[in-house]
Amino acid sequence: IVKLEGVINDVDRIKVMVAYRDDPSPSKLNLGIGVYRTEEGKPHLLNVVSKAEKLLLNDKSASKEYLPITGLSEFNQLSARLVLGHDSFAIKEKRVCTVQCLSGSGSLRIGAELLARFHHQHVVYLSQPTYGNHMNFFIAAGITVKYYRYYDETTKGLDFQGLLEDLGSAESGAIVLLQASSHNPTGVDPTVEQWEQIRQLIRQRGLVPFFDCAYQGFVTGNLEEDAQSIRMFVADGGECLIAQSYSKIMGLYGERVGALNVVCKAEDVACRVESQLKLIIRPMYSNPPIHGAAIVATILRDREMYDEWTAELKAMIVRIVNLRHQLYDALCERGTPGDWKHIVNQVGMFTFSGLNEDQVSFLTKHYHIYMSSDGRINMAGLSSKTVPYLANAIHEALAS
Ligand code: PLP
Repeated sequence: IVKLEGVINDVDRIKVMVAYRDDPSPSKLNLGIGVYRTEEGKPHLLNVVSKAEKLLLNDKSASKEYLPITGLSEFNQLSARLVLGHDSFAIKEKRVCTVQCLSGSGSLRIGAELLARFHHQHVVYLSQPTYGNHMNFFIAAGITVKYYRYYDETTKGLDFQGLLEDLGSAESGAIVLLQASSHNPTGVDPTVEQWEQIRQLIRQRGLVPFFDCAYQGFVTGNLEEDAQSIRMFVADGGECLIAQSYSKIMGLYGERVGALNVVCKAEDVACRVESQLKLIIRPMYSNPPIHGAAIVATILRDREMYDEWTAELKAMIVRIVNLRHQLYDALCERGTPGDWKHIVNQVGMFTFSGLNEDQVSFLTKHYHIYMSSDGRINMAGLSSKTVPYLANAIHEALAS
């Protein structure tokens, strides 16, 4: 794995996971791993998922036979509608090719492979910083990885000017990986107006937008709002790729369920893309697993279950937002040096705390608190009980 300056790659995050596992301290706290935990710190199985599984268990017509190479067809249709909207013209015009893949990672890897084989420009731009595994999907496909400026350490917000400059000077035809919402690891998303400027620039320069949509609904609990960035690009009639994941949004992590959507300019192109995707997938894993896709389809096709899911998703987001406020208040009460407003301003699962490597080491050594060395905190790994513990640790790290 290539180690780039300032880029936290997967090796660092895996090291944190192992160190946490091996720490015998009863007060240890894992804020490194990117999964949602309950207030009790336990893994979270959504009620609506249990309900769907019961229905599937009682369905006498269900089988365990192989799915087609492209996966469960109903799942693909429902996934495309979830991300592009019920009234999407691209779907109506049959310009969208959707294939079920092994969650977000598999969708990104298959998308990268498609681009490596059929797109002329073998360069991808990732945000600096980004999710640690992003570069690996593209490197594995033989695509050169470059970075565009994204995070401004001074404002702890978006470096919009830097982003525009870097994309403005990217090679024509380069691929640009964009996180649709709830950016990992920074918790910083562009505004709708900024997305519009990004869209215009990408289209003007003939760049290829590849959306990673792993957290639809994680900003406010509203699935429509969180897909707005993608829908703006699809509405202009141009091409784009979208990798969808159900890991976080339905808590289906280990089921490995997601989809790659390729939005094309014409129906015949979408057909040819599908046949090429089949040729890519067949020798890789033949066809995807059935159970996770069946769970998702059961929930998305039924109005009542869909509503139950979105209510559960909303409750998860409300808990994270509350924790943001609790941590912010706790640091302000302690008079911890620094401005902590970004904790409440950033969105989604993660807070990019601004703690440096030494401060993170201090937290681990003295408080058994684990997070990656870039200071990313998984807010969903916290609870009302552990917020004061974290605040004390941060306070001491900054005061010492
Ligand atoms: N993209 C982003 C931004 C992520 O944070 C993750 C997981 O943390 C993924 C993609 C891949 O997740 P999965 O393969 O479980 O869908």
